[in-house]
Amino acid sequence: MKILDIRVLGDPVLRKETTRVGAVDDDLRKLISEMFDTMYAAEGIGLAAPQVGRTERVAVVDVEGARYALINPEIVESEGSSRGDEGCLSIPEIFGEVTRASRVVVRATDENGSSFEVEGTELLARCLQHEIDHLHGKLFIDYLSVLKRRSAMAQWEKLKDDYPGFIRKVALEKQGPHHSEGEL
Ligand SMILES: [Zn+2]
Repeated sequence: MKILDIRVLGDPVLRKETTRVGAVDDDLRKLISEMFDTMYAAEGIGLAAPQVGRTERVAVVDVEGARYALINPEIVESEGSSRGDEGCLSIPEIFGEVTRASRVVVRATDENGSSFEVEGTELLARCLQHEIDHLHGKLFIDYLSVLKRRSAMAQWEKLKDDYPGFIRKVALEKQGPHHSEGEL
């Protein structure tokens, strides 16, 4: 088990477009396994490769037991709209309301290289959209109104010094007072 450092807002890797994965090999499976470990240690429900400083198009999610490794995920169906509070493991302690599709179907490749589809509603739909955004350099704060975004950034200004070099040390932080419930 290996817990990776989580990159926080300000690290340019979070704004990078990821690279489509070619072959699913042992190196990629190792990354996926470490991403699951890191996500669970941070008490998140989703984690995308850029959040651990990587550029492969890979994310992991576990929403109420719906556990998926998503390689090259794409939204192939999307409907409805739902507004809900969102947070992000890369922007600790900042939350904001984001409107997302209420149902999505995502097509992806699994750890064995097979193609599959997952349908998500409610929180799973929100999580899938949030993680796929990460793979294209997009963050939930991008959806906030100008005013709400400004206020979130003012909050973040005060918090960001806790993360020197834009690095969030998950294992150490777990013993601290912070909770990351609901962060993706
Ligand atoms: Zn996130």
